[in-house]
Amino acid sequence: MSNYFQPEIETASREEVLAIQNEKIVKQVKHVYENVKYYRDLMDKKGVKPEDIKGVDDIKKLPFLTKDDLREAYPYGLLATDIKNCVRIHSTSGTTGKRVVAFYTQNDVDMWEECCARAIVATGGSKDDVVQVAYGYGLFTGGAGLHGGSHKVGCLTLPMSSGNTDRQIQFMMDLNATVLCCTPSYAAYLGESLAERGYKPEDNKLRAGIFGAEPWTQEMREQIEKSLGIKAYDIYGLTEMSGPGVAFECEEQKGMHINEDHFYVETIDPKTGEVLPDGSEGEIVFTCLDKEAFPLLRYRTKDICILNREKCSCGRTHVRMSKPLGRSDDMMIIRGVNVFPSQIETVLLQEGYTPNYQIVVDRVNNTDTFDIYVELSSDKFSDKVAEIQQRERDLNSAMKSMLGINPKIHLVAPKSIERSEGKAVRVIDKRKLH
Ligand code: ADP
Ligand code: ZN
Repeated sequence: MSNYFQPEIETASREEVLAIQNEKIVKQVKHVYENVKYYRDLMDKKGVKPEDIKGVDDIKKLPFLTKDDLREAYPYGLLATDIKNCVRIHSTSGTTGKRVVAFYTQNDVDMWEECCARAIVATGGSKDDVVQVAYGYGLFTGGAGLHGGSHKVGCLTLPMSSGNTDRQIQFMMDLNATVLCCTPSYAAYLGESLAERGYKPEDNKLRAGIFGAEPWTQEMREQIEKSLGIKAYDIYGLTEMSGPGVAFECEEQKGMHINEDHFYVETIDPKTGEVLPDGSEGEIVFTCLDKEAFPLLRYRTKDICILNREKCSCGRTHVRMSKPLGRSDDMMIIRGVNVFPSQIETVLLQEGYTPNYQIVVDRVNNTDTFDIYVELSSDKFSDKVAEIQQRERDLNSAMKSMLGINPKIHLVAPKSIERSEGKAVRVIDKRKLH
């Protein structure tokens, strides 16, 4: 049994979706060209006029936008409407540098919240649910997006924001929360905290979790599902497009459906900018089809994904994106080898460790140093040095076979790595500081 929030559009035929996209893009390019000087200049430089865009097939003629453009145009340079028409501002988390700001009209907020409502309903969500929103509220889009989506579905909404774990647990238990929304790293921490307080996974009423805003592995998903006794769903989004809900998982959980009636997606070769066929690994590029205030065209996300157009058993027709394999700027090059934090997380969880770890990279005497600090759970903790050293050697060889290079493993005492309430900081690259 499938659940849809907006069944006509979520299950529309490919032709219907294309017709909607073609109609919207023509209007949108005109709107941007007329109202955003910054982008008009880029189009003029490329020799593209709004009349050249007759449908989504012509999108590839348009210039790209990058986060650098957003920083350059900060704060109002990409605003496409009178500021009087805007009702909200949000800002990126600033994971990779200076924050950028995005503006919303009321229609933009409604569209975004509907996307989040689709994600909630896809988990089986309805008016019967109590949705605990433990994403941060404020400039960050996580809290506001899922909060609005929960209202649109008619769920009872618990606007917890992130942090204050004791209160999260108290309200989760006392008010019978059924759906938990937060970052996966915070979900893992809540699972751990519940166990510490003597709760078993079946003691809570949660049935589903909607987790996103940062990369997380399949192994992490299994660990969270076990510790909270729920089904964990992925949700993807970015402030530049609106926030969470650009794409979301259905019960099939084989990729996230992109809300294609609002966002046109391409994958490109991050080096050459060439558009790749569906199914190839590439950088995801989005075009906002109907946003009014902050309508970015061909925005390069730096997220590396694979698109899948195969039919999904849930009945939704919108294309699916894989879990982002990482951000292109997440990738570390250590001693010449490409390393993604997600590879390290996979090994740790496969080897039975907790997802509490930190990676420190530095350069000493012109050589990269690569240290991974991994927290031991109390049942694995031992004061026998030989035992710990053996574990470190075992983990080191597992890492070596996954990554192709040797990290130095440091097993550290339970609770010694700081927990994250929002997006976890996994990598400290000191080479950038020198
Ligand atoms: P920032 O870029 O400063 O972190 P945002 O808060 O807007 O700003 O975060 C958007 C980014 O978060 C995305 O581009 C992506 O890299 C990451 N992200 C969001 N959802 C997911 C997800 N489900 N899986 C992996 N990464 C995600
Ligand atoms: Zn599906």
